[in-house]
Amino acid sequence: MLTRIKGARVVDPANRRDEIGDLFIRDDRIVAPPQGAEADETVDASGLIAMAGGIDIHSHIAGANVNTARLMLPEQHRAHARRPDSTPLSQVGWTTFETGRLYAEMGFTTVVEPAISPHHALHAHLELADTPIIDKAILTILGNDDFTLGLMRSNEGASAIRDHVAWTLQTTRALGLKVVNPGGVAAFKDNVRSFSLDDVVPYYGVTSRAIVKALQKAVHEIGVPHPLHVHCNNLGLPGNFETALATIAAAEDLPLHLAHLQFYAYGKEGPQGFSSAAPQLAEAVNAARNVSIDVGQAMFGQTVTISSDVLRQFSARGQARPKKYAIIDGDSNGGGIVPYEYRAGSFHNAVQFAAGLELFLMIDDPWRVFFTTDHPNGAPFTAYPEIFALLMDKDVRAEWLSRLQKEALAVTTLPSLTREYTLSEIAIMTRAAPAKLLGLPDRGHLGQGARADIALYRPGKDIAQMFRAAARVYKDGELVVRDGEVTQVRFGRALNVTPTVEASMRRRMTDYYDQRYGLPSDFMRVPEGAIARPQPFEAVACRS
Ligand SMILES: [Zn+2]
Repeated sequence: MLTRIKGARVVDPANRRDEIGDLFIRDDRIVAPPQGAEADETVDASGLIAMAGGIDIHSHIAGANVNTARLMLPEQHRAHARRPDSTPLSQVGWTTFETGRLYAEMGFTTVVEPAISPHHALHAHLELADTPIIDKAILTILGNDDFTLGLMRSNEGASAIRDHVAWTLQTTRALGLKVVNPGGVAAFKDNVRSFSLDDVVPYYGVTSRAIVKALQKAVHEIGVPHPLHVHCNNLGLPGNFETALATIAAAEDLPLHLAHLQFYAYGKEGPQGFSSAAPQLAEAVNAARNVSIDVGQAMFGQTVTISSDVLRQFSARGQARPKKYAIIDGDSNGGGIVPYEYRAGSFHNAVQFAAGLELFLMIDDPWRVFFTTDHPNGAPFTAYPEIFALLMDKDVRAEWLSRLQKEALAVTTLPSLTREYTLSEIAIMTRAAPAKLLGLPDRGHLGQGARADIALYRPGKDIAQMFRAAARVYKDGELVVRDGEVTQVRFGRALNVTPTVEASMRRRMTDYYDQRYGLPSDFMRVPEGAIARPQPFEAVACRS
């Protein structure tokens, strides 16, 4: 079956293409214009914009903490169809089905769940397998777990850490590795309430810095395409930009990804001792070509914060709105769930909103700044269309700013920024760059051989509306969305790296789990057969 998408404005920066032209789909792939062959179907796309399917590198859509949030907030998660519009999170529709549907309708076709404890990987994969349309992946968390910290305490060296990381990635079928408040979460178990890059984890005697560097090196040496994904220490605290700056400096020349940098873009200036330090961070990111970041934009409204940073979530429990929270100090990272409402009238929330936009607008290279709200921590992912509009139209920004406290904006530089993202820059940030960052050459672009994940948008004055409801979306060549609504439900794959694992590490983990937990280490293995969908997993190559 050959389909011709005719006359769209093709925005495909990976192939240096921004022109009116055609796209050809044969089966699940984009193919070169066939010589002389007639298309079986021609779709008139004149007036529409064609981009590759969107890729979200950091969105909490599955796993134990997400489900604890669901259980804790039943009033916000009633069956989607019966939920009144005014209910908090009413636009999220937070079932696995709705997650897939809402992403697809915005033209997103690949999403990464970035924080899964190894012991919860099977559950997360089962939940992702139940999420339709999109392809997905997990990042597995290490760095506060007893085994990793024990290896470091006994100075076993880089090869032992590397073998353990490889074993963990393979066992949990992850696409990459994350570390959350490195060492801080382990220290929290000893009643430590504040933990920075050079603080030492009690009992293990290792610093946060040493943990980051050891895991960063291991990920790099294994050849995992996605660099270590770091949730830094001191999230949310005034003055914490210093921690992010120190972490960027600690990366030296190896690749490193810093997650939701907005939550680290805070200084202590101004009347409330809370200001945006986004300009300093943007300058550091601009200078560090080995570092990539995602923003974690905050938007106003009700949401729930979900994090494996138990220390941080415990500290934030007093800000819970509504007043309930859950802190689970489990093995390795546990989790903290704190509902929260960002308010336009709040000084702090206005500074957070501004700091995120400053990062977007002041980091020059769209290949190294990624589009996230840290869903649902900064805002539900359904807020993405409004954020695209804020980035692409300075008049839209000015309108939003007019509703915020002048004193709050005075401790930011946002009102002075005039940059407007182009469509091509948006396509880099949400398509081409994430595909490159994750090591997925089959997507993020519209060139020959790419997976036929295509979003067609209907441009108009209202940019948010254009991105909210794609005119057409194809997943693997199959039409799944028409005029902003899912018309065909199918299931995607889970993407995972398949590193080589040393037999000695397998034996060692078997002994460790047997002695420590009385369980076979296989209890956490994610088998192919656990996911009853066709083609459940797709291997992503490590660099050899
Ligand atoms: Zn996150």
